Amino acid sequence: MSIIKETKFTMHKYNIHPNKNLGQNFLIDDEALNTIAEHVEKDDTIIEIGPGLGTLTAILLEKAKKVIVIELDNKMIEILEDRFKLYNNIEIINQDILKVDINRIAKKAKIVANLPYYITTQIITKIIKSDVEDITVLIQKEVAERICAIPGTKHAGAITYYIYYYADAKIIKNVPKESFIPNPKVESAIVRINKLDKPRVKVLDEDLFFKIIKENFTKRRKNLLNSISNIIEREKLIDILKQLGIDERQRGEELSLEQFAKISNLYTKLK
Ligand code: SAM
Repeated sequence: MSIIKETKFTMHKYNIHPNKNLGQNFLIDDEALNTIAEHVEKDDTIIEIGPGLGTLTAILLEKAKKVIVIELDNKMIEILEDRFKLYNNIEIINQDILKVDINRIAKKAKIVANLPYYITTQIITKIIKSDVEDITVLIQKEVAERICAIPGTKHAGAITYYIYYYADAKIIKNVPKESFIPNPKVESAIVRINKLDKPRVKVLDEDLFFKIIKENFTKRRKNLLNSISNIIEREKLIDILKQLGIDERQRGEELSLEQFAKISNLYTKLK
């Protein structure tokens, strides 16, 4: 049976009406599904976030040693338990991914998922801090472009710096709206994120560092001096920028990750 027929059949059989609030857009595109699962190897433990009807799960179960799925919707859990009852390499967890301690679920796992779009950024910022080193996710194209941008360029946002600090990220495939039931409102893309052995730059106080970046992008149109002077006292900030040879009229969005690290580190030392 084709994936599209199988999806419609399963939805009919279990009387499923996709829940928009849970970001339920089921993937029906063979090529996209195989690309998401492309880097899965036979000795891998995979964590799949939001398995839904289990379309991607079925592929993962054939390729990996173990697949741990985390799904919030009870209705989906019922389908997954039924569909995969004969498999002994699946573990089904009925929980909210945002409340799960990923490091306790598996040691050395890869994450693979077609993510619920309403919480894409929250999920990615959570998993990037876990011990998982290899992440392949299908997400909104706009977010994918932000995540994979180079800091200091047009597409960059606070999340760009965040990801770039921890990892290398690249878009490996664009996926059109028609590849889902129901069609989402936006275009999508598959992103591969590989964690670095250690963060790209040395930062003395990560909380401060990310706070400065976040504040800067919330006040994107302002120059550096005005955007972060509520975190670093104006006089100190002028002094720090002078020491680093950064023009105070420059906008923070033009700064590199290293420059933000230097601002943050100098302030930490001065405090
Ligand atoms: N993997 C399936 C596919 O590719 O067709 C479904 C993907 S669908 C975009 C997102 C899935 O994430 C849905 O099954 C939804 O119920 C689930 N989900 C939504 N919020 C969640 C959360 N907070 N924790 C775990 N799963 C969640």
